[in-house]
Amino acid sequence: MPHVLDPDLRRALAERLRYYHELGIYDFYRREPRAGESSETETPPAEVAGPLSTSQPELRDEMAARKSAVAATVAEENIFDALTPKPEYGIADPKAALKLIREDLGDCTRCKLHQQGRKQIVFGVGNPRAELMFVGEGPGADEDAQGEPFVGRAGQLLNNMIKAMGLRREEVYIANVVKCRPPGNRTPERDECETCSPFLMRQIAVIKPKVVVALGAVAAKNLLAFNAPMAELRGRFYDFLPTGARGSDPSWPGARLVVTYHPAFLLRDPRQKGEAWKDLQMVMKYLGLEPAKKTAE
Ligand code: SF4
Repeated sequence: MPHVLDPDLRRALAERLRYYHELGIYDFYRREPRAGESSETETPPAEVAGPLSTSQPELRDEMAARKSAVAATVAEENIFDALTPKPEYGIADPKAALKLIREDLGDCTRCKLHQQGRKQIVFGVGNPRAELMFVGEGPGADEDAQGEPFVGRAGQLLNNMIKAMGLRREEVYIANVVKCRPPGNRTPERDECETCSPFLMRQIAVIKPKVVVALGAVAAKNLLAFNAPMAELRGRFYDFLPTGARGSDPSWPGARLVVTYHPAFLLRDPRQKGEAWKDLQMVMKYLGLEPAKKTAE
């Protein structure tokens, strides 16, 4: 059975590996346990084992500080993949970089969603230089048919939300955690999210938005790499640096991330629209946006 790393240790390990990556160190190996050492103990790569010891005060402080709000976003099995240089690294034009990511995705068969009735991959849409990005869960039937995220009823509501913020849909970027429609609109499973989300992280890393809005619990959980009820996730900003962002552009400090309700949920429970609007107002204040003026009373 695979051993699951403690989330804090996993994040610290990912950060430390990024640091080595920035130094130009790419190759790591895992030391075999010596006689007498338990093979059940998760041993970080030999070079990393020392720095990760929580007996070291600076790392302990680093981890404690990170616990407060900074969210690293690396799934255990994606750590090494995340550190591999990607084709879009060094490409200054985000439109061209997104094209390279799309080409890298190809006619993707990386997870089982490719053989569960998808019509097409729904990559993402919008302004490659958007300051604001919305991330949902996965395509539904309309999105699968049209190849664009958020085009059904939930998409209409999202359009209205964007408009109310004083923006146009073309000015933001919209994507999902998984790019293929889960059958029957079921929630994407963990392995599907973990396989597909590195492409989303790469999209975010080249767009470099100021704010990412996670629409619903699935998007929030996958972007923030932790699980909590919506009531706890909403109402605050998180510092968010997608996996691989340092390789894409070391100068980008990351985005602020806000969690709000998925528009499909708001269609089912319109009473929560006021709460969602509070979340969006937080974003508007941060971005200096004025709400759209009402046309007619
Ligand atoms: S959901 Fe993502 S990883 Fe899975 S097949 Fe589609 S594009 Fe590939």
